[in-house]
Amino acid sequence: MTTTLPGLPRMFGRALALRCPRCGSRRTFVRRWFGKHDRCRTCGIRWRREEGSELGALTMNTILTFGALAVGMAIAFVATSPDIPVVPVVLVLGAIAIVMPIVIYPFTYTVWLAFDLRVHPPDPAELADAAAAVAGAAAPAGERVRSSEDA
Ligand SMILES: [Zn+2]
Repeated sequence: MTTTLPGLPRMFGRALALRCPRCGSRRTFVRRWFGKHDRCRTCGIRWRREEGSELGALTMNTILTFGALAVGMAIAFVATSPDIPVVPVVLVLGAIAIVMPIVIYPFTYTVWLAFDLRVHPPDPAELADAAAAVAGAAAPAGERVRSSEDA
């Protein structure tokens, strides 16, 4: 287990592939689409590294969704002006507003973790905690719990 972090582009690349930004494993904290394990199941890093980690992911989700709506609105206006079909445009933008946050949900957490790890690199205590959690999960009792979560 390495204690040095990969570079930011690599961590973002991993995050965008729903891998752990720190270790690159697919067995990370993402559980199905909306669920989360407390930690990456491979390297043990916690995604909730401090109070407010959800807020970072939520903010990113909101900004990206509003950005997509703004781009969609601009495209619709430019493509159809001056006879803008208001109802279809509103329906499409409404669908984007509902679907986009769902689609990008787990990515906002992995990308936010990549950003957070870069801004606040884990200290030795956090790394030791992560390593201990992984070692504990490898024990027979932990194995049973982990496999039931994977189901
Ligand atoms: Zn990891």
